[in-house]
Amino acid sequence: MALEDDALACIELAFAEMPFTADDLHFMGEALAFARIAFSEREVPIGAVVVREGKMIGRGRNRREFLADPTHHAEIEAIREAARSAGTWHLDGATLYATVEPCAMCAGAAVNARLARIVYGCTDPKAGYCGTLGDIPRDRRLNHRCEVEGGLLAEESAELLRLFFRARR
Ligand code: ZN
Repeated sequence: MALEDDALACIELAFAEMPFTADDLHFMGEALAFARIAFSEREVPIGAVVVREGKMIGRGRNRREFLADPTHHAEIEAIREAARSAGTWHLDGATLYATVEPCAMCAGAAVNARLARIVYGCTDPKAGYCGTLGDIPRDRRLNHRCEVEGGLLAEESAELLRLFFRARR
């Protein structure tokens, strides 16, 4: 019984320390919906959205296979749409939600777009550059930095990837 109470206290503490809001949860859910579309298209299931002032201004999913384009990651698609819809490359104040930790290219794009914040789901031990293999968005030598918070709906994002790679084997 005491053990269960301890476990519960741990869970509550973990949630209390999470820097996420109800909006974050909502928009990560949207990013996950795009990851599921990618899954249905036989692409590695990763989705992303860009949000500014509470509005979703960019959406993206990985479409590398279909477009035969190595740069067509979900985050790039979402950032491009956001810039088009904002009419400027300068997306200050915006947040990028990505179901998986962004790679070096996408983290670089986030810095170049002057995004305020990156929120991601699961970490990527083979390509993640927002704290795992390196940390482009928080590199103090760069002329702009983004806040980074990972781990939101991480299990859902990771499970989608597991299902995808299991089905491909
Ligand atoms: Zn990427």
